[in-house]
Amino acid sequence: MWFHKMKTAPFARRLLWLLAPVLALSCGPRKDVYRVTKPLMGTVVEVSVVSADAPHAYGALQAAFDEVARLEAMMSAFREDSELSRLNREGSMHPVKVSPELFQVIAMSLSLSQTTRGAFDITVAPLMRLWSRAARDKILPSPSEIEDALRRVGSRHVVISSQEHTVSFAVKGMALDLGGIAKGYAVDRAVAVLKERGIEAALVNGGGDVFAYGVKPGNQPWRVGMRHPRNPQALLAALPLAEKAVVTSGDYERYFWVEGKRYSHIVDPRKGLTAAKTASVTVVASSAAYADGLATGVLVLGPEEGLALVDSLPHVEAAVVTEGGRGELELRVSSGFRRVCPLDERDLAAQGVRLVE
Ligand code: ADP
Ligand code: MG
Repeated sequence: MWFHKMKTAPFARRLLWLLAPVLALSCGPRKDVYRVTKPLMGTVVEVSVVSADAPHAYGALQAAFDEVARLEAMMSAFREDSELSRLNREGSMHPVKVSPELFQVIAMSLSLSQTTRGAFDITVAPLMRLWSRAARDKILPSPSEIEDALRRVGSRHVVISSQEHTVSFAVKGMALDLGGIAKGYAVDRAVAVLKERGIEAALVNGGGDVFAYGVKPGNQPWRVGMRHPRNPQALLAALPLAEKAVVTSGDYERYFWVEGKRYSHIVDPRKGLTAAKTASVTVVASSAAYADGLATGVLVLGPEEGLALVDSLPHVEAAVVTEGGRGELELRVSSGFRRVCPLDERDLAAQGVRLVE
C-alpha cells in the first residue's frame, strides 16, 4: 500500500505543478476597481482600472488623465493657444505643419467625411459659430447667413500632405472643429496609456464615449448603459463591452431652444441646419475615435440612411432612436446589433420605446 503511494507521488507532484498557476491566481492578492472622475474636454471623464496594487492603479490613472489633458490642449477650438487654433488662424494663408497626432485625427476625419457622404465634416466651424450665436441670442440665422457660412464648409476644401504633415484651407475663413471626434480619440489614447502601464482591465468614459477592455474582478464583464434619450433615469439596454468602444451621440445632452423649438448642437454640413431627424445614436466599434465620428455622422443621416451605411461597414453596429408619432420613441438597430447587445422588447415597450424591425 505504502509502496503504491510512493509510486503515484510523482504524478501528484506533476498535477500540483499544473494546478499551481490556477491556485496562485485564485489565492493571489485581491483585485479592486479604482475609479477617478475629472472634468476635461468640456465633459466629465471617468476612468476605472482593475488592479491589485493601489499605487500602481493611481499612477496609471494619473497618466491616463494627463494624456486626455494633453490632447485637449492640442485639439480644443476654444483655446487660443491650442495647435488646432493656430492651424485655424493660419491655414487659409499657407500650409501649416502639424504634429503627427493632429494630422492623424484630421486625416481620419476627412476619410470619415467620405464614408458618411459629408454628414460628418470637421469643417463645420463656420456653421457652429452661427448656431452658437443663435443659441446665445435666441435668434435663428438667416438663410443668407447660412448660405454664406456654407461657402466655407466642406472637407473637399481641406488640403493635406501626408509626407509633409501639412494642412491648409482652399477657401478663406475656413476652420476645423474636432468636437465630433477628439473626445473619442482621447479615450482611445487614454486606453493605450493604461495598457502601456500594464493595467489588464479598464473602462474609460469620456462623456458618453466609452472604451472597455478586460474584465472586472470576479470575471464580470464591463457593462455600459444605453440611455433613454428622454428619461435620464432610464436605460434602454445594458451593453457588455470587451476590447470595444461604444459611443452615444444624442440631442439631449447639449441643445438649445429658440421660439419654443429645440435645436441640436450637431449640424448638417450639407444644408447648414441643425440635425433634426434623430434623438440618439449609439455606435459600437473597435475604436472610440471612429465610433465618435460615425455616431455624429449617423445622427445627421437619420435612421434609414445611417443604418444602411453602418450595415455596409465591417465590424460596426449601431442603434438609432427617433421620435415616432404620438410621443412614442422608435428604436432601429443595424443587422448585427443584437449580437453585441441583447434587447428586451417588452422592457422597451414599458419605457415607451417601440423596436422597429
Ligand atoms: P457630443 O459632444 O455630445 O458627444 P458629438 O460627438 O456628436 O456629440 O459632437 C458634437 C460636436 O461636433 C459639436 O459640438 C461640434 O463641435 C461638432 N459637430 C457638429 N456637427 C458636426 C458634423 N456634422 N460633423 C462633424 N462635427 C460636428
Ligand atoms: Mg461624435
